[in-house]
Amino acid sequence: MRPRRILASEAASYAGDRVRLKGWVSRVRVLGGIVFLELRDRSGSVQVVARKGSPCFNTAKKLGRDYVVAVEGEARLEERAPGRVEIVAAHIEVINEAEKPLPLDYTRSGNPLNLRLDWRFLDLRNPRSQAALKALAEAAHAVRQYFRSQGFLEIFTPKIIGQASEGGADVFPLVYFGREAFLAQSPQLYKQLMMATGVERVFEIGVAFRAEEHRGPRHLCEFRSIDYELSFVEDHVEVAKYAVEAVRRAAEAVVRGVEGYNEVFGEPPRIPGSPPILSVDEACRLIGRPGCKMSAEEEELLGKAVAKEYGSDLVVVTEYPWSDRPFYTMKHPEDPSKTRSFDIILRGLEIASGSQREHRYEVLVQQLREKGLDPSGFKFYLDHFKYGMPPHGGAGIGLERLVKQILGLRNIREAVLAPRDPERLAP
Ligand code: ATP
Ligand code: MG
Repeated sequence: MRPRRILASEAASYAGDRVRLKGWVSRVRVLGGIVFLELRDRSGSVQVVARKGSPCFNTAKKLGRDYVVAVEGEARLEERAPGRVEIVAAHIEVINEAEKPLPLDYTRSGNPLNLRLDWRFLDLRNPRSQAALKALAEAAHAVRQYFRSQGFLEIFTPKIIGQASEGGADVFPLVYFGREAFLAQSPQLYKQLMMATGVERVFEIGVAFRAEEHRGPRHLCEFRSIDYELSFVEDHVEVAKYAVEAVRRAAEAVVRGVEGYNEVFGEPPRIPGSPPILSVDEACRLIGRPGCKMSAEEEELLGKAVAKEYGSDLVVVTEYPWSDRPFYTMKHPEDPSKTRSFDIILRGLEIASGSQREHRYEVLVQQLREKGLDPSGFKFYLDHFKYGMPPHGGAGIGLERLVKQILGLRNIREAVLAPRDPERLAP
């Protein structure tokens, strides 16, 4: 019978047994009559030794880093070995070789980001790079659990659409059987239309496309958006509470689920039970720039000021000017130059935008016109507002932005498997 196949991290619990492991050689040292190998698999790594006289000694000597191997031997407790266990190899099979040198030395820190992204799937052999993927998975899972627990139905809206949902120039057009269509910038119109169905609460974690010319550290042309929408809201502050809670759950899950979070990424973000909620005007005064518009630079200043004043890394900013928000946003009842809207700023960067929506048909048509949009292009959406649309609101949270801020990464491209930006279409 063939010995049991185990993972590197399980070696100690098989001490005394003959076992098999498969993985990559991550280090080779030849010291006189002994070859020390480090064997890495998905669980971690373990030391393998091959002694002169053993039939696999010559094979072991010729191994190089990143070779794919199968090792058979006895697991043995050994004080001097990392993890206090080693495999005394009796047989080593080379499954596949690796050319030298690798185009990216993924074991180093400080590789240029562009080189890392060119060789993304070698870069992801580095545990720190991999941690970002784990963080994405943890955050998405926690958010999904949270919305489900609050009675939100998960939906899957189309990503090829006939009308740009957010207006503006940053849409990717495509030819759809001879007609013009677009890649969805957000599920906005569809999640709002779901409010007409009586389901009342929906969410989606889906892809969004924006032809953003930005080449900076915050924008991608393809990102994942966590969207939710709910009926019978009183105002935008009520809507914002769900986004704050989703962000809190995501941050907790990432800190819990990413191994060695604190050693690698430092202090987790501080999100108090009731984080500060400031109007744009109040926020601008706090940073000493009365009348400001909350540019990216001002968001950064606000992040610092709020951390100092409130001991919070998260702040909800409300009541953005009507001129800065999309047509479907409800205007402020007391001051129509403002809106019932909010952004969530985490560690000085916008990660979410939301609002109460305008649910009154005539007002909505008027607002489209004010934004220079043609209501006839929105007929499929608008018509539903005539047949019993409840008051509602919602928000969109950028998944990669969120993970970038939770991990404290410098560039959003590190928080996505394969970034799409104006220059990059591969891998
Ligand atoms: P920004 O002002 O930062 O460009 P926005 O206000 O245009 O963002 P929204 O339409 O409010 O973006 O989208 C909701 C959320 O989606 C944002 O808060 C952000 O987290 C995320 N997001 C928007 N655009 C991008 C993008 N190009 N790349 C990554 N995430 C994005
Ligand atoms: Mg926004």
